Amino acid sequence: MKFEKIHNKGQARLFNNQYLEHLTKTHPLVIWGLYTPIICIMLYYSNSALGFNTGRIFFAFLSGMFVWSLFEYLIHRFAFPYFAESERAKKFVYLIHGNHHEYPRDKERLFMPPVPSLIIASVFFILFFGIAQLFDAGQYVYAFFPGFLLGYLAYGSMHYAIHAWNPPFKWMKPLWRNHHLHHYKNTELGFGVSSTLWDHVFGTMFDLGKEKEDKEKVQELMFSKQTNKREIQEQS
Ligand SMILES: [Zn+2]
Ligand SMILES: [Zn+2]
Repeated sequence: MKFEKIHNKGQARLFNNQYLEHLTKTHPLVIWGLYTPIICIMLYYSNSALGFNTGRIFFAFLSGMFVWSLFEYLIHRFAFPYFAESERAKKFVYLIHGNHHEYPRDKERLFMPPVPSLIIASVFFILFFGIAQLFDAGQYVYAFFPGFLLGYLAYGSMHYAIHAWNPPFKWMKPLWRNHHLHHYKNTELGFGVSSTLWDHVFGTMFDLGKEKEDKEKVQELMFSKQTNKREIQEQS
């Protein structure tokens, strides 16, 4: 995924149709608002209707989060470049991921917007349910899937934070640097966003000791109230 220039201001136009274009944007709180009730209802259902005890629910839930983190890594590493053979596939990849690489600081495009998000989530639920059902364990998906969803919310929020703010804790700094380097140095490394676990496992971690840190550049890349105001003025 190479672009002539990475834009730290402005936004990609994804559709000519203004209504479709509007549907490509969202805010993290909208997505949290969408999935938090689903997570709660599924967990409640696991306990009250299916009679799973807390231990079982907890284990299935954690497995869901774990599977999400691997999924996040694999899709970021393999699915996006893999599909980009034909013109049409390239457009699709640009729509779902490439635009973020060209405009990494577009805050409205850090989460999948509600409509496609819900469709994709439903497909995944059915898929997991189908797989689990092969082992006669379909009911566990009601406790597993909320973990998968929370993993996604954590990932999306981390991603937002990485592009918006400085790391709140020192131990989180490698995560920040791993993703900034993925954007600005080499898109073939540093695929993990919510954790660097799989980058370590599969050997795609940046050597953070060797990479020199450019403090000014990092500062420049944060969303700040001032630049937002300037951006709004420029757009209007
Ligand atoms: Zn990013
Ligand atoms: Zn990427």
